[in-house]
Amino acid sequence: MKRLRGRTLITLILAGLLAVGLIYFCVQLVMKGNDWVGFFGSTYYDSGAIYDKNGVLLYDGESGEYAERQATRVSTLHLVGDRNFGTSLRSVLASRMTGYNPVTGTTLGSHDVTLTIDSKLNETAYAALNGHKGVVAVYDYTNGDVKCLVSAPSYDPKNPPKDVNENSAYEGVYLNRFFSGTYPPGSTFKLVTTAAAIEQKKDLADFRYTCTGSLKVGNDEITCPYVHGKNMDINQCLACSCNGAYATLALELGGDTLEKYMKDAGLLESRKVCDITTAKGSFVSQPKGSSNLAWSGVGQDKVLANPCGMLAFMGGIANGGEAVVPKLVEKETISGTPLPAAFPDGKDTFSIYRKETCEQLKTMLRNNVTVQYGQAQFGDLAVCAKSGTAEVGGGKQPHAWFVGFLDDPDHPLAFVVLVENGGGGASVAGSVAAKVLAQATAE
Ligand SMILES: [Zn+2]
Repeated sequence: MKRLRGRTLITLILAGLLAVGLIYFCVQLVMKGNDWVGFFGSTYYDSGAIYDKNGVLLYDGESGEYAERQATRVSTLHLVGDRNFGTSLRSVLASRMTGYNPVTGTTLGSHDVTLTIDSKLNETAYAALNGHKGVVAVYDYTNGDVKCLVSAPSYDPKNPPKDVNENSAYEGVYLNRFFSGTYPPGSTFKLVTTAAAIEQKKDLADFRYTCTGSLKVGNDEITCPYVHGKNMDINQCLACSCNGAYATLALELGGDTLEKYMKDAGLLESRKVCDITTAKGSFVSQPKGSSNLAWSGVGQDKVLANPCGMLAFMGGIANGGEAVVPKLVEKETISGTPLPAAFPDGKDTFSIYRKETCEQLKTMLRNNVTVQYGQAQFGDLAVCAKSGTAEVGGGKQPHAWFVGFLDDPDHPLAFVVLVENGGGGASVAGSVAAKVLAQATAE
């Protein structure tokens, strides 16, 4: 009898362990099943395909083949990705493309994903960067659809370079700079300083600045590339991007106010774009009266911004204060059929500045193009923009930025162009934007 009781106890313990194990397995299956199925090493599950918005095949999960044209493969590599790209859609959409769900597993077949991207626009953008490292992105600021997204350098995934790890031309190649990069914003940051001045400086309408080419702050000098002019109002100061004027405004507004307006622009937050977490920017509130504070007001010092954040910020100004988070997936269908396999990705928004502030910024951005950068290169497009030439030190050429949007209900497009070590913002990055916008609006 005693022995029987002992055996019963052992059996019960074993049964208990089995139950605990089963529960553990089920919990893990529900929590991580999609990761197991989507794991890059996994060859057990069929994956669907990735198409651009016009039905151009970018990646076929069944054969493992990429797009037919080399220019398409190179310019969409960071979006589509291979096993080296953590932020690529093949990584973040892996389980969705196998069609996995916790109840049926993968028995209902794989899913195809159609992107909002126009691969022809990507090809043009990549070519326009002309061998430079950098970012080009264009999106619809009313619904978040990303039309063009290029990160350079890139390579042909069908024929990866052998020297990718040694050759400096491929430095940071596995990074999608749009999502993961942070850069000194240079003069594009003057939009944040301007917004702070519009809302916090009651006498901004009377503000006048005479540029002498440099402004002494403590033992430092805030310099302009040349003498900008006398008695300039805020519109003129922004158009010619006078560092002296913006340093003066920064000293008056203070570091905490500038930090608040950078935060309100959404530039200090990270976002989720199709399960990809974007890098957040940073700002250091420097002491009152310091030259560091003056430099931070012109987007130098320790200020950093992420290109995706900058794009949403431009969209927010264009939209009168409501910024739409970019999105990449147009639809998900059961492989080889037009049948929908998931609800479309929803619209994600956040608020930036007051509507009146955004209206005033919009007018000023339009003025920049007409009086400073030149309308001619943009044809008849109502481009609103700000250039930036961000000093990077170390004897290297500055980064060139050109950011903005079209004030056009038929083409509600915002854009960000960043050319690393490209030199002058308006000329270098502006011409890239001009080419891409001309093609984006040609339909
Ligand atoms: Zn100046």
